[in-house]
Amino acid sequence: MKIPPGNLASSDCLFCKIVAGDIPANRVYEDEFCIGFPDINPQAPTHLLIIPKQHIASTAKAEAEHSTLLGSLMSAAAKIARAEKLSKGYRIVVNTGDDGGQTVNHLHLHLLGGRHMNWPPG
Ligand code: C5P
Repeated sequence: MKIPPGNLASSDCLFCKIVAGDIPANRVYEDEFCIGFPDINPQAPTHLLIIPKQHIASTAKAEAEHSTLLGSLMSAAAKIARAEKLSKGYRIVVNTGDDGGQTVNHLHLHLLGGRHMNWPPG
């Protein structure tokens, strides 16, 4: 499948550097669209990040042409959750923008599991 056009990889984007292999990460998952690796500051016993290989700054920048890629992130999260044996459940979080608590401006899913999650989030 062809990756749709979008923002080019940014030389000052931390997650683009991880995708390129310039910064090491333990890739627990990889397909043509995305990679998954452990969060450096885990908030749950299992805390993985799933990021697109293509640079998209946030969900605020997502367009209809990215729908295959966006869907692949969710199905990757589901596959990883099964591999991690999160049979009791898990949470997928996508922080977006300042109010959403986003700190790295490259779209990413947090996959959190291994403990009971509270609602509402902080
Ligand atoms: O949603 P947000 O943008 O805040 O998430 C960024 C995540 O990237 C944080 O959970 C942070 O711990 C993680 N991170 C990482 N490795 C880095 C820098 C940040 O896993 N080198």
